[in-house]
Amino acid sequence: MNAFFYCVIFTFVKTSILEIPTQKIHLPNSSIELFIRREDLVHPFVSGNKFRKLKYNLIQAKKENHTTLLTFGGAFSNHIAAVAFAGKENGFKTIGIIRGDELASQIDKNPTLKFAHECGMKFHFVTRENYRQKDSTEFIQDLKEKFNNFYLLPEGGTNNLAVKGCSEIVTDADVEYDFICCAVGTGGTISGIINSISTHQKVLGFPALKGDFLQKDIRKFALSENWELISDYHFGGYGKVTNELIQFINLFFVENKIPLDPIYTGKMVFGVIDLIQKNYFPNNSKILLIHTGGIQGVDGMNVKLNKNNTPIIQFND
Ligand SMILES: *Cc1c(COP(=O)(O)O)cnc(C)c1O
Repeated sequence: MNAFFYCVIFTFVKTSILEIPTQKIHLPNSSIELFIRREDLVHPFVSGNKFRKLKYNLIQAKKENHTTLLTFGGAFSNHIAAVAFAGKENGFKTIGIIRGDELASQIDKNPTLKFAHECGMKFHFVTRENYRQKDSTEFIQDLKEKFNNFYLLPEGGTNNLAVKGCSEIVTDADVEYDFICCAVGTGGTISGIINSISTHQKVLGFPALKGDFLQKDIRKFALSENWELISDYHFGGYGKVTNELIQFINLFFVENKIPLDPIYTGKMVFGVIDLIQKNYFPNNSKILLIHTGGIQGVDGMNVKLNKNNTPIIQFND
């Protein structure tokens, strides 16, 4: 995997990400054909879709002669990990505005922050109240006074250039699929996919959080109407899990040797397989799942699950 990974990084800003493998998932007694695109293999610690979202932003930041990237995130943020790593690889300093001032003393206990720190990211911890102000002009002005010039990446990394990067996940070679399914956080990834499919295809998004605001957010970026959000598989909300979900992720690994993350992809794949069992899809449908990554968050989730004395996620044979 290492050789593959370095090729990806090397060409990351200059050209494009290499072809990502697509695997078939065996479904007993079904006419449905199910495939999964392994964007998670881009890097063991950096989510596939977060790389896609950064690509054109980094090109833009270089064009504007920026030397520093600044962004926002929570304690287990895949986006924070991705910015820290991509910044290091491409010669940018990185600053992470982190939600929760109590975390300042816990960097070494938090796998995500530890990784970002090792990549050279500087942290600025803010209280939860302050963090809510992060999009206000005053907050940004304060940051400018503190850190001088920087290229600002929004929380979760979603902006126009990010959507452009995500439109490269699905290509013309994928016209054979009837449905393309992905997890939804801020809606940037699904918007990119919607913008690159053909009219006979449909995108199904599985929100990892509760709330109706996503429809509106996706409409800001999406250029067509052949998509739908399926909101029944958030498992209680963002970052929430159940024993059933954890057991599903563990069984999926045993059967397919593919790790899923508990925040995004585990919920999406659970949802698709549940819908297949409920005959949601027409016979002989061909479905492509997008594995957006997120595996770096598993260790952090296991720390929480261990504290609660509930089953943990296990990816060993
Ligand atoms: C961030 C993330 C998503 C959601 O992407 P959005 O563009 O924010 O909707 C899905 N899967 C993984 C693994 C992620 O890290």
